[in-house]
Amino acid sequence: MTQTLTKSQEILERDAKHNAGLWQPNIVFTHGDGVKIYDADGNEYIDCMAGIAVASVGHGNERLSNAIAEQAKKLMICSQAHGNDTRTDFYDKLVSFLPSEMNLTRFFMASSGSEANEAATKWAKAATGRKHFVVAKRSFSGRTHGVLPLTWEKKYREPFGPYANLSTFINLNKIDELEEAITDETAAIFFEPVQGEGGMYPADPEFLQAAQEIAHKRGALVIMDEVQSGVGRTGKFLACEYPGSKPDMVTLAKGIGGGFPLGVLAMTEEVALKMPKGGHGTTYGGNALASAAGLAVLEEIEAKDLIANSLEVGNYFQEKLRALENPKIRTVRGLGLMIGVEFKEKVAPYVKALKEHGVIVINAGATVIRFVPPLIITKEEVDEVIARFEKALAQVQA
Ligand SMILES: *Cc1c(COP(=O)(O)O)cnc(C)c1O
Repeated sequence: MTQTLTKSQEILERDAKHNAGLWQPNIVFTHGDGVKIYDADGNEYIDCMAGIAVASVGHGNERLSNAIAEQAKKLMICSQAHGNDTRTDFYDKLVSFLPSEMNLTRFFMASSGSEANEAATKWAKAATGRKHFVVAKRSFSGRTHGVLPLTWEKKYREPFGPYANLSTFINLNKIDELEEAITDETAAIFFEPVQGEGGMYPADPEFLQAAQEIAHKRGALVIMDEVQSGVGRTGKFLACEYPGSKPDMVTLAKGIGGGFPLGVLAMTEEVALKMPKGGHGTTYGGNALASAAGLAVLEEIEAKDLIANSLEVGNYFQEKLRALENPKIRTVRGLGLMIGVEFKEKVAPYVKALKEHGVIVINAGATVIRFVPPLIITKEEVDEVIARFEKALAQVQA
């Protein structure tokens, strides 16, 4: 007798023959609507992963999907060697979101976070004539060769060296270690203001302030990796606004495209113009389609006041998580809608149980569950997540 497979099982069977073998997916998503996402068999989930902090304005967003469709009919690709109206509109809109005192008025457009970070390391070298970077333990800067040496996790980094970029890892928030690590070979300090992949650790504002002062005094630049924390997720457009940072460079990706591949390196003019003409580039960077997506995301954030929503609903979400007082939960930390729940044990069974109760999340390390929903999430939807989380906790701990 032939067994009938569900639609998801059928797709997963075919997929397993061709994927690169890096993951073992056990769910197939076919569409989404706001914070909801649906599998191939029509089951509904609340998406607190959002493609890992990517779907900032939610799934199936009108403004974003219309902007992409309209731009696609008009012009998709336009080399950065040529001007493009949509790209320039994106620049102007982005400038209006960046705190003016940071003077981040120059942009290099890429297609991912790793690419934006790679560009930042090249610009730091071009601007300082130095080659060394100081990074924090637990940092995640991406998976390409240029940024792997700035990524802490050994299993990502060690098998693929040696690397052209040189780095020293310090403990986050340890000013004395930073003092010691910065030398006259240091091109830049390179920090995530809230570590994402490494476990959702916000850096101390005092540390970021001191780090910036020490770096600048010694002729090194300050780079903030806001690939995950940027674009309103923490309740400010940039997380490094909390300590009042004045970075020389900030990188954005994930949320800025709302799902469309887009990475941006924002720089001061002083740093930007140190790169020799033609010293860096990429075919797809600044293409009209990505620019239209980025512009629509920023317009949607403005129109719906999503940065304020991140702060308000994020704080509400954190309060509700803290109120759970589950004996296996060690702590809840985060900023806005960038939230980590650290357990006293491995979280894989909880991630699985949450999925069974209709909530999609991802871990951040072995013992932390990450909640990074679309910035449009409401308090009512948070209440529903909490109710399902309680059931998942009870199921695992039964
Ligand atoms: C995801 C991430 C990256 C890498 O971005 P990709 O788009 O995957 O290349 C870099 N830095 C941080 C902080 C990230 O969260």
